This record gives sequence, C-alpha cells and structure tokens, in this order.
Amino acid sequence: MADYRTFTTEDAKRFADEHSTLFGDHSKLHCEEFGDGNLNLVFRVSNDKGTSLIVKQALPYARCVGESWPLTIDRARIEAEVLIKHRKLCPEHTVEVLYHDPVQAAILMEDLDDYRILRAELIAGKQFPHLATQLAAYLAHTLYYTSDFALTGPNKKQQVGRFLNPELCLITEDLFFTDPYCNHERNNVHAEIRSDAQQLWHDEALQADVAQLKVNFLSKPQALLHGDVHSGSIFINDENCKLIDAEFGFYGPIGFDVGSLLGNLLLNYLGHFGLTADADIRQQHQAYLLEQIQTLWQAFATNFQQLMSNECREPSLQNSLYQQRFMQQVFADTLGYAGCELIRRTVGLAHVADLEQISDSATRGQSERKALKLGRELILQRASLANIEQVIALVRYQ
Ligand code: ADP
Ligand code: MG
Ligand code: MG
Repeated sequence: MADYRTFTTEDAKRFADEHSTLFGDHSKLHCEEFGDGNLNLVFRVSNDKGTSLIVKQALPYARCVGESWPLTIDRARIEAEVLIKHRKLCPEHTVEVLYHDPVQAAILMEDLDDYRILRAELIAGKQFPHLATQLAAYLAHTLYYTSDFALTGPNKKQQVGRFLNPELCLITEDLFFTDPYCNHERNNVHAEIRSDAQQLWHDEALQADVAQLKVNFLSKPQALLHGDVHSGSIFINDENCKLIDAEFGFYGPIGFDVGSLLGNLLLNYLGHFGLTADADIRQQHQAYLLEQIQTLWQAFATNFQQLMSNECREPSLQNSLYQQRFMQQVFADTLGYAGCELIRRTVGLAHVADLEQISDSATRGQSERKALKLGRELILQRASLANIEQVIALVRYQ
C-alpha cells in the first residue's frame, strides 16, 4: 500500500492477510472495528477456524475529539517499537507485535481475546492474586534494561533520540500537570466537587510540587517508559497479564510508570466506596487492593535492586549507597505521579469508570473528594513517606 489512508475493514483484512502466515485468503476473512480507546482504530480480523489477529491504526487526529485535534501518526511507530523492545525484555507480560507499517501507521498484533481489560474486572470486584507480582516484574525488567544501569552512554542517547515522542508527551504534560491545577476549559469538574477543584487552582504549595514533578517528567530520561500504564492498558486473566497501548512511550522518569499504575489501583480503591454498597464485600476488595499495592512496590523494588546488584556493568553505578538513594528517589517520584493521576482523573479531561460508574452523584462526589485529598497528600509527602507501609496507612486514613 502506498500513501497513508484510513483503513476500512477490507483494508484491515488485506493488511492482516499480507503480513501473517495465519490466514491465506483475505476474501474469506471476517473483520470488525471495535476499539473503545480514545485515539485509534482497532480491528479484529478472524477466519472461520477461530484464528484472529488485531489491527490497530493511528488516525491523523485524536479519535475521541475528531479532526479538530490533529495528532502525529508517528505514534504508531513509537507504540510498535516500545512494545517490541518491552517484549524482548519481558515476553510474558507484553503483547506480541507481529508486524508494523510506519507509512500506514498500522500494527498487526496478537489478539488477547482470552484476556479481559483490568479496569472492568476491578470495577466488578474481581481479584487476581498474581496481579502485583507480574506487573512488578514487567516494570522492573522493562525499566531496568533501558536505563543507564544497563545501557552504555552513546547507546542510551541514541535510544532516547528514537523515542522523543514530543506530541504525545505534550498531551501528558498538559492533561497531567497543567490543566487540573488551573481553571482550564479542558477540565471536566462535576458540580458536587466544584469548590474542591477551585481550591486546587489556588493551592500554591501543591502547584510548586506539581511543577517539580512536571519538570522531572520533561527532563529525566531514566528509562524507556510505557507512558500510559493505566488499568485500561492492562489485559488480565486468571493466569497472566499483558500490557498493550504504548503509544505514549518515551525516555522519562521511572516513577511515572510505577506511579500511574499505583494511582489506578488507588482510584479503584476509592471508587468502591461508591460502587459496592455491601460493607463486607467492599472491605474485602479494598484489603485485596492494598495488599496488591504493597506487593507491587516491594516486588518492583526487590527486582530492580537485584538487577542493579547483579547486572550493572557501569562501575560508578555499582555503589550500593548510590543504588539505595536511587530507589528512594524512584519511590518519591512514584508517589508524586500516583498523586497526580488521582487528581487529573478526578477534575481533568479524561475520567475513569471506577469513579464515573458510581450512580449516585453525591456518593461519587465523596469518592472524588477523597481522590483529590489523597492525591494532594501523596504529592506533598512524597519525599517524607519512608516506605510503602506508611503509604498504606495514609490510604487507610482517608
Ligand atoms: P487506544 O490507543 O485508542 O486507547 P488501545 O490500544 O487501548 O487503543 O485499544 C483499544 C481497545 O481495543 C482496547 O481497550 C481493547 O478492547 C481492544 N484491543 C486493543 N488491543 C487488543 C489486543 N491485542 N487484543 C484484544 N483487544 C485489543
Ligand atoms: Mg488505550
Ligand atoms: Mg492509546
């Protein structure tokens, strides 16, 4: 295919057939467009034997807004290359990309049809014992092996240049760090928490810390991030979980990926105050989430520390005191970005179903208020909270 054009279902079938040995005659294939994401087209292509693959294509604009919000289609290249790299580093927990075409901005990948989206499962109160350990392994491996501990200077810099991703980063810079802290027209503030949002817009101490986290995001190329680790980017089943949707990937602060995930687990925790009326069932689910949050950090830190101790080839970074300080700094960043995620999902443009699905608006307002309060505390106290147990105590106190 020559120049870029938006795929029809026929194009998606042809693309899947041409670039996979699984099929063989595209006229016999079935195809539907079923993406529920904000930005892209997602097709499922299947044959009559039940074999299926996914074709994802970037549009030259953001799907949820339309042509008035143009967006580079280079994001498909970034997404494919991040997923391919992350899959090399952590094959168990990264979706498999089979082919990608940078001109058509299209990716052919495995169909995770025997997995479900984590967010919907957690909203339904489902529990997965392996969630935290598997995601900690994914984060530790992908982040460690793309960091300065593993890459030599020139190679690292070349990688940083390959994944600059300025347009998608700008979306995060605006939506995560700017809009929620001022009366921006892109914000989406429910009437019940209007006055709480207004407090954010005048909270100079908080704004100073968010500015620091934003500059950190802009200028700390520690590792190749996934860049969008929310619970809608995680597919899960009773045995395993896998990450998809890495178009926001770039070299940034390690705590951003870990904190985004932690923030999403906390949003689910707070959402259940309004989602689950039965107190016993609610407490049981919330206890599960706190356990997973604790394990997530502990397992991530243990994995990452082991990799630093055993694998680091750079003599000056083998210093164990430095490595301890490094982990403490990643911990503080993680808490700060988790706090930002809580706040931006409550008053910013893109909300989460964990809060939106609370049917009574006054009850939803209570969970949203808790999210703002906890988010603020995590940001302000990120450097003084000594360990994950203290964070859990802070969450319980909400
Ligand atoms: P966007 O970048 O637009 O958010 P996503 O990559 O998140 O797109 O995909 C949107 C939706 O498409 C997902 O929520 C999921 O339902 C479906 N999807 C995406 N990739 C796969 C896959 N590999 N297997 C099965 N479903 C997928
Ligand atoms: Mg998505
Ligand atoms: Mg996406």
